[in-house]
Amino acid sequence: MDHRILGKTGLRVSALSLGASSLGGGVFRAVDESEAIRTVHAAIELGINFIDVSPFYGLTRAETVLGKALRTVPRDQYYIATKVGRYGDNEFDFSAQRVTASVDESLSRLGLDYIDLIQSHDNEYGDLNQIVNETIPALRKLQVAGKARFVGVTGYPLRMLETLVDRTEVDTILSYDHYSLNDTSLLSLLPVLKEKNVGVISASPLSQGLLTNRGTPAWHGASDDIKQACSKAAAWCREKNADITKLAVQFSVRNPEIATTLVGTASGTNIRNNVSWLEEPIDEELLDGVLEILNPIADKTWIVGRPENN
Ligand code: NAD
Repeated sequence: MDHRILGKTGLRVSALSLGASSLGGGVFRAVDESEAIRTVHAAIELGINFIDVSPFYGLTRAETVLGKALRTVPRDQYYIATKVGRYGDNEFDFSAQRVTASVDESLSRLGLDYIDLIQSHDNEYGDLNQIVNETIPALRKLQVAGKARFVGVTGYPLRMLETLVDRTEVDTILSYDHYSLNDTSLLSLLPVLKEKNVGVISASPLSQGLLTNRGTPAWHGASDDIKQACSKAAAWCREKNADITKLAVQFSVRNPEIATTLVGTASGTNIRNNVSWLEEPIDEELLDGVLEILNPIADKTWIVGRPENN
């Protein structure tokens, strides 16, 4: 497993990391807790050292299951990133009081006394003035108190992430669905992130199911033309006895400007496959064919959160 430096944090993170959103069940499918715990252990044994979670995932269950898994793992073997601000599909609270309490709740569920990276979650649903003037300063206070080592922001619209990087000091950004076979628009933000030495975390190399043979969950925001193009590309790979999931993981992880790519799964088989695929060279011919099929919808996005933040 390659390791890369996460911007100004200086953390040496695995090029592929574990997104824990599925661990609590309900995000993509029902999940068996002991399987989820084994998946976390398998990921760490395979060289993954960065795990991303949130109180929102499984409505706190993902943090709780992750905490159970980490109980038997030495603290110096992994970095934990969690989040504040989002607590349900339509439940957001970016106030200083709530985010401060939220970190204590996360620490207790995770069974830890500090978090490596605390992130303000899905800021496009909030008032960016509040994020800049209240949320980030509250997270910096928690950093001074030793409860979190670094501070970051996450969300979907790149314009929102760019605004926050411009208006406030953050150590990392987490972008999702913007560096995968169907959408590489994160590339447009890399020069400014590099200039400010902001660590780049890119989530969802499988475009949250678009680039798998199983397809997308009901909550997925992509329009029908995107879904159809991705399923056509997946079928074309199957005809060639190939798996679009493998190509998608290899493609997203190979850009060295992106410190780490978060893939989500609660399955030991999936995480083992994802890591082993990185040892193999990418099939350039297959890649060209898939990019051609996806070209009509390349970089096509959708609105998430408040329209003014998109
Ligand atoms: P993803 O693109 O990683 O896709 C996850 C889906 O792919 C799941 O259905 C999973 O079962 C499946 N999958 C994974 N490996 C597979 C394999 N080898 N074969 C077949 N299917 C496989 O999307 P994601 O899980 O939403 O994103 C990854 C992580 O990034 C999340 O868990 C979360 O930690 C983070 N994330 C954060 C934000 C945010 O902060 N706003 C948003 C999205 C994702």
